[in-house]
Amino acid sequence: MPLNVSWWESQILMTAHQHISQNEFRRARANTPARVRVCVRLRPGMGTGQGQDAPCVRGVDSHSLEILNWRNEMETMKYKFDAFYGETATQRDVYMESVQPVLRHLLEGQNASILAYGPTGAGKTHTMLGSPEQPGVIPRAVQNVLQMTRDASGDEWKYSVSMSYLEIYQEKVLDLLDPSLRDLPIREDRHHRILVPGLTQREITSFLDFESHFLPASSNRTVASTQLNHRSSRSHAVLLVHVSQTQGWPPYARRAAKLCLIDLAGSEDNRRTGNQGLRLKESGAINTSLFVLSKVVDALNQGLPRVPYRDSKLTRLLQDSLGGSAHSVIIANIAPEKKCYFDTLTSLNFAAKSKQVVNKPFTQETLPDICKEGSWAGVDMQKWGVTILQASKRPCPGSSDAGPEAKRLCPEEEQPSMVEQKPLSSLLPLENLEPAVAERLLHLESLEKQQAGAGSCVFPLLNTPRRERLGLLKLLDETRREVKSLKEKQLEMEAKVLQDKDRPRVPARPQKQAVVLPLQQVQKPGNTQAQDGIIIVKLKKGGRKKKASALDSENEAPPEWEVEVRPDLLARSKGNILALLNTGCVKDLMALHRIGKKKAQLIVAWRHKHGSFEKVEDLGKVDGISAKQAASFLKVNILSTLGTPQ
Ligand code: ADP
Ligand code: MG
Repeated sequence: MPLNVSWWESQILMTAHQHISQNEFRRARANTPARVRVCVRLRPGMGTGQGQDAPCVRGVDSHSLEILNWRNEMETMKYKFDAFYGETATQRDVYMESVQPVLRHLLEGQNASILAYGPTGAGKTHTMLGSPEQPGVIPRAVQNVLQMTRDASGDEWKYSVSMSYLEIYQEKVLDLLDPSLRDLPIREDRHHRILVPGLTQREITSFLDFESHFLPASSNRTVASTQLNHRSSRSHAVLLVHVSQTQGWPPYARRAAKLCLIDLAGSEDNRRTGNQGLRLKESGAINTSLFVLSKVVDALNQGLPRVPYRDSKLTRLLQDSLGGSAHSVIIANIAPEKKCYFDTLTSLNFAAKSKQVVNKPFTQETLPDICKEGSWAGVDMQKWGVTILQASKRPCPGSSDAGPEAKRLCPEEEQPSMVEQKPLSSLLPLENLEPAVAERLLHLESLEKQQAGAGSCVFPLLNTPRRERLGLLKLLDETRREVKSLKEKQLEMEAKVLQDKDRPRVPARPQKQAVVLPLQQVQKPGNTQAQDGIIIVKLKKGGRKKKASALDSENEAPPEWEVEVRPDLLARSKGNILALLNTGCVKDLMALHRIGKKKAQLIVAWRHKHGSFEKVEDLGKVDGISAKQAASFLKVNILSTLGTPQ
């Protein structure tokens, strides 16, 4: 394919500068369902324009067109789409209005997919690839993605782009970047991502980079001459542009998005193509996969329990794009001539029913191990449209860690279900746990991890021998019961306080008084000895003297109280806080009193630089947290962290 590189690039650059600002795509992060956008492009007429070459379809406005009714030539049938592009529409029009708007989702870790559909000779390859003079969707989109990622790369996110290129020929997946790889499998991982294990992936940093891989690969494509199109594509070609991003500060999240650019082989009426022998066999495979594609759309529209994605390689690969997680655009290409009437009608009907397909895009995010200990954070994030994926423990040869070389999907990706582990979720229905128990579990996890040697394993409970695991689960059960009984006691105490309120007041107010604290027991006034499980609360020396009883403080500012905790309980609480400081992610740390997001990030960053905290008081060493703040932090958190068993 002779391509004038600089011409191509300069044409596309004009488009690339009009990309959408980062603020806009950050707002569009919600997990809202996205309908598949469908547009129709009518190519200019070819031939004499008379007889069978006469047009049978014409545009009405920028959304609608009409086609002759074959039952009655005096009538027309009208179709309406998200966009209609007539014979005079340019490549730029199609790209700017229908393609570019979905690309911004790539920068927030969501997939996008652009698919050219239509019969042979209707203009699919022209739309997707184009020519040096009229570059199509593929070169424009690649240029745009490179430009967007370059502009968006900063302190918060670093982006990298890579590509894969494959074709589906006679139900076999061939790697166009490495033609020796034929008949690759298509797999789905537990997060419903569609993967082609073994497919070559090459990093691209510039448009020239892209061309240096894409142009030779394109010449590997299976094309042949049929009577309708001298350079007819005999295969479905799929260009995958992978956009990876890594967060520059805690929690160092990673996102992966994929842009799928698909130039389908056209459906063929073999009476008109003159196909025989191999061409006829190829045509059979092409038509079968397009027929399955149509069945997939029908099944999705009817809400059938089984969608026949697996009935063809094409539909398996498009599972993301139709009814899946991608923002999808279908460009149905049609020809105006009467001789193409039934092909055009079939394409219009496919396009019309595809309009009803609704996808559910979501952000694919991976957190480093340290944050995944608390998989509850993951559950929360899913509510916000973020799927937490497991990062592999060792760097994958294909990951960005392994350098910018050509890469293959790592074995972890090939068989994700075998290596991906979820903390406890396979043992316990976490979603059903009470928040208090879930929080407790989090502490158990981090404590257990600490004992096993901090950072040595990702999910200690799953790596623990069965007997110990059962022990821990038993402990969990006891913890649950303990939490329940403490709650009951709290309710009792609250009832008692209400009763006390109604009683006549004692004239002389004692110096030291007990108040009810959540989940704690009350020390009888005057008794200064700490007993089992008892916390003493005293009026601070020199603290503001109050006139009324402490229990009658509704309308007055509370007096300053001093907390005395039994030494062993204090040590336990400090241990718990220390464990959380050393292992908790930003979200976990924010659960502590007086720790907001900024402080939590400072703590995690300090830990990355200096290693673990030796004692809780070391918190004062963190830049931005004073020793005084550290002391008051300890005070307010002692009580709330006492409940965790050692
Ligand atoms: P398909 O890939 O659907 O089989 P092609 O893209 O190869 O069809 O188009 C067939 C022919 O029609 C090509 O010569 C192409 O240049 C031309 N063509 C298609 N669409 C247009 C268009 N919108 N404007 C000009 N020429 C077009
Ligand atoms: Mg083609």
